[in-house]
Amino acid sequence: MANNMTDTIKKLETQSDDASPATDNSQAGQSWFNRPVPGIKQQLTATLTAVETEPSTECTNCHSMITNTALIFNCYVCPHCDHHLPMTARERLQWFLDQVDGELGQEFSAKDPLGFIDSKPYPQRMTEAKTKTGETEALIVLHGKLRNLDVVACAFDFRFMGGSMGSVVGDRFVQAAEKALKDKKPLVCFAASGGARMQEGLLSLMQMARTAAAVERLRIAGIPYIVVLTNPVYGGVTASLAMLGDVHLAEPKAMIGFAGKRVIEQTVRETLEEPFQRAEFLLEHGVVDEVVHRHQMIDTIYRLLAKLTHTDNVDA
Ligand SMILES: [Zn+2]
Repeated sequence: MANNMTDTIKKLETQSDDASPATDNSQAGQSWFNRPVPGIKQQLTATLTAVETEPSTECTNCHSMITNTALIFNCYVCPHCDHHLPMTARERLQWFLDQVDGELGQEFSAKDPLGFIDSKPYPQRMTEAKTKTGETEALIVLHGKLRNLDVVACAFDFRFMGGSMGSVVGDRFVQAAEKALKDKKPLVCFAASGGARMQEGLLSLMQMARTAAAVERLRIAGIPYIVVLTNPVYGGVTASLAMLGDVHLAEPKAMIGFAGKRVIEQTVRETLEEPFQRAEFLLEHGVVDEVVHRHQMIDTIYRLLAKLTHTDNVDA
């Protein structure tokens, strides 16, 4: 966008420069609407400077530059190509909830029981992730209000070690489910994860069973649990809490699967075509209930929850 504007303004400036001798010498031959307007060049340059100095983000799909303010107002959806850019967990929950009453699970912190070292020790990776994101783990749990409904909502932060599920993510999810169970509030989960956290080995795999058991308790008590699959959701998270919702919504073109496309291609020795593992492909095959644009997501979830909790006054 900024490049297009620069070109347009350069053209205008050139036209303005070309026309200026005529302004100085004689304007008799020009009709009034062709005459250059004094001061127009300065005004355009001033506007351009304001746009260019504002922090911008490049769309990963169409490579347009979008100012961060425009991006926030548009819920991180590219205004040029409709691509859904990632949101951090906290941004996501603050966008989703009208009122935040509290946060859960901040008392848990990850241990390093295996003394795991790959290219870096696990504690060092954790410290780096905390510094980068300003969060203490890959799952954030808030409870509050969605319009007139009380809800518990959690969201994965993909920037935090790929949104991987270690024991603290499991602890926080279970606590979210228990809060939902105790207060009889619906639970909403925005999933974005690469899967189980390998640095915690078997302990992270155990979280699949723990979270699945927590969802089962919700099911028995008749508490609604809605999952929103955002780009991407893979591995142990797909194989547990992300596929156990009463309703599965997905954002457009989100990549959702268990193993990655390349691993499957190598195993079955076939080339898998593009829509494979996209939200739209999964919708056609019955894995996802609906693909919902981010602009309609809050409305859709609210209506579903109002129905599932028998709340009558649907105001949207
Ligand atoms: Zn775009």
